[in-house]
Amino acid sequence: MDKFIKLEEKFGANNYKPLPVVLTHGEGVYVWDVNGKRYIDMMSAYSAISHGHCHPRLVAALTAQAKKIAVTSRAFYSDKLGAFLQKACELTGQDKALPMNSGAEAVETAIKAARKWAYNVKKVAENQAEIIVCNNNFHGRTTTIISMSSEPQYRNGFGPYTPGFRFIPYGDVAALTAAISKNTAAFLVEPIQGEAGIILPPAGYLKKCAEICRKNNVLFIADEIQTGLGRTGKFLACEHENVKPDGVILGKALGGGLLPVSLFLAKEEVMAVFTPGDHGSTFGGNPLAAAVGLEALNILVEDKLAERSADLGEYFLKKLRTIKSSLVTDIRGKGLFIGIAIDPKKATARDVCLKLLEHGVLSKDTHATVVRLAPPLIITREQLDEVVQIIKDVLVLF
Ligand SMILES: *Cc1c(COP(=O)(O)O)cnc(C)c1O
Repeated sequence: MDKFIKLEEKFGANNYKPLPVVLTHGEGVYVWDVNGKRYIDMMSAYSAISHGHCHPRLVAALTAQAKKIAVTSRAFYSDKLGAFLQKACELTGQDKALPMNSGAEAVETAIKAARKWAYNVKKVAENQAEIIVCNNNFHGRTTTIISMSSEPQYRNGFGPYTPGFRFIPYGDVAALTAAISKNTAAFLVEPIQGEAGIILPPAGYLKKCAEICRKNNVLFIADEIQTGLGRTGKFLACEHENVKPDGVILGKALGGGLLPVSLFLAKEEVMAVFTPGDHGSTFGGNPLAAAVGLEALNILVEDKLAERSADLGEYFLKKLRTIKSSLVTDIRGKGLFIGIAIDPKKATARDVCLKLLEHGVLSKDTHATVVRLAPPLIITREQLDEVVQIIKDVLVLF
């Protein structure tokens, strides 16, 4: 394994600190390292692998389309894009979709749409539009997106920052009301804060925020890149509170674990602000991405992965909560999107992840104190039982 690690470290920028395992193949919930050791993947590439690794139907869709035509650019129509966008609109209850590649690009698209909507529709004075965001959010890594981050590590050294963002505490309805001005274009929010450590807002938060936005002519935009597509037990996490956002951002699992595919979806009035030439992406919505994205959505529906996530998530959370360990300060989550908070006086979450790795479980710490558990949604009850046992075995080692 050493030679692969050394090679990456010699020629790769030092912007990640991977756990010391070199993966070479994956199938379903399992991955194997170059020595042939098998691991159960409880991280699924930050929820991008919700369908499991190399899902046969997705690999078939990918290879079939790759043999026909993969990239056309949006200078031309393709026979694949329309059906993909239609399905995504139907499943999210939105009118129109704009395809991009990475999650950050779709977030950028949402920001541009919200600002232009503010000027064209709400009649905010030129260059005065504001977007309200939450402290400890994670929306991506571009220079504009880090400008709306409160996390020093994401921001420091990368200024000057894009103006036009206002910060409020997450979960605080009154703070949203207080932050809204005549210049407010949108409130952009994660239904559950993932990177912040699987932080669930108080019950009713999203519903109340959406109502406040509606009353004040402010767009309610949900970043469902990580929480969407069944991860939390509903197709969109906003559905837990029967909230229909004015705009929705999807990514990660939308590419079926094979490709970067993202969408910004919105109601007609919002998407109508874009006219030809305003915005775009060379690869966004290419036939290969559209074929895989459509198949990824079809599998989610046909295999009832959201329902599965709800059932198994509840089961898993209940079993995890029976673990008696002085290391654990909290276990929380929704669906198969779960965090175990570790007492920082006893161990770091990374130490726990390293031990889990030795025992054949892949997971990833977030914010030093939380072990994230977000397996492929195709995982079985028996496999979850196995993971619970391994977590028990590992926690007694500290
Ligand atoms: C991962 C993530 C993003 C960024 O997606 P990339 O594909 O890494 O650009 C944005 N928002 C949320 C909530 C995410 O989890």
